[in-house]
Amino acid sequence: MPFTELQNELNERAAQGLLRRRHVLETPQGVRITVDGSPYLSFCSNDYLGLANHPQLMAALQAGARRYGVGAGASHLVSGHFAAHHQLESELAAFVNKPAALLFSAGYLANLGAVQALAGRGDAVFADRFNHASLNDAMLLSRAEIKRYRHNDMAQLAQLLEQTKSGRKLIITDAVFSMDGDLALLPELLALCEKYNAWLLVDDAHGFGVLGAEGRGSLAHFGLDSPRLIYMATLGKAAGVSGAFVAAEKIAIETLLQHARSYIYTTASPPALAGTLLASLNVLREEEWRRGQLRKLIAQLRAGLAALPWQLMPSQTPIQPLLVGGNEQAVALSEGLRARGIWVPAIRPPTVPQGTARLRISLSAAHSEQDVAQLIGALHELAR
Ligand SMILES: *Cc1c(COP(=O)(O)O)cnc(C)c1O
Repeated sequence: MPFTELQNELNERAAQGLLRRRHVLETPQGVRITVDGSPYLSFCSNDYLGLANHPQLMAALQAGARRYGVGAGASHLVSGHFAAHHQLESELAAFVNKPAALLFSAGYLANLGAVQALAGRGDAVFADRFNHASLNDAMLLSRAEIKRYRHNDMAQLAQLLEQTKSGRKLIITDAVFSMDGDLALLPELLALCEKYNAWLLVDDAHGFGVLGAEGRGSLAHFGLDSPRLIYMATLGKAAGVSGAFVAAEKIAIETLLQHARSYIYTTASPPALAGTLLASLNVLREEEWRRGQLRKLIAQLRAGLAALPWQLMPSQTPIQPLLVGGNEQAVALSEGLRARGIWVPAIRPPTVPQGTARLRISLSAAHSEQDVAQLIGALHELAR
């Protein structure tokens, strides 16, 4: 049987409690969702601002479909680059204070394309060990020399930079670490770039729309601006839609356009989605109360969970992981919440280091204080 080996591998995963499974949603993404036929209060999406089913965005999607149809029909460089894509790129660039931007169909593709276009054989890529899988895959694909440093360990990074003499140097990092919720030390990273003549690629998947004035992201949060910065953000999380962009100096963006294979060899995303993102950008910028609500809920959750036997991780973002430790224990806790009508995913190795299984609680501006109180109550019940 050709499948015996694959079946054995799957059985082994299952025995370790590591089999990944999907659940079927029947409602829009939001605070109250129906999953596999049952209703839940959800703390498991990256829709941090509650825009994924915002009426203005839905109307923009419908208008976009009427104007442009459904499919883009080609890659950007053939005939799939529409007016809505073009306008979105210039508005995104201005929003994050960069001269130019390039749209990608997904954050995963943006990271693959950006790293591969900016670093190759003979160059070196420096990466935080807690970076997102897409950045890890990107550096492997680039064929540059790979230097990983301990999470936020600037001394080790400086040492690695010091030892590297030849080629281009590119530091890549999550701005908000997706399974921990903490921030990269962006000012320190940029200072190291200045000292060692390196570039810094910042993946702001979880900061864009959430951090900084008007949701302009992590660079705005830290007040950073430098031509050495290559900024990447995704548009399927706080922006509530789909896709991603890279923003940087014009020359860097032109280099991506010429060399990023995940940009060149893929069909452009539907132009109606770009139209929807233009509407999202307006809502995201103008409805400051959404970020205010998030800050309030984060403080409420952290105060409410302080006395639990499990530790909240040091995060000031809407990603609030509760460190449980063992895989089975994390799964049991997630299932206990589910039995109480609350959906919070357990995150296990290899997504996080061994022995650090956790509940990944994510908050949304669409949550109310009563919703958060319900989660706090359920976790206290389960701790008893
Ligand atoms: C989600 C995520 C991505 C991938 O973005 P998609 O648009 O979902 O492909 C990249 N980097 C980080 C840090 C993420 O959290």
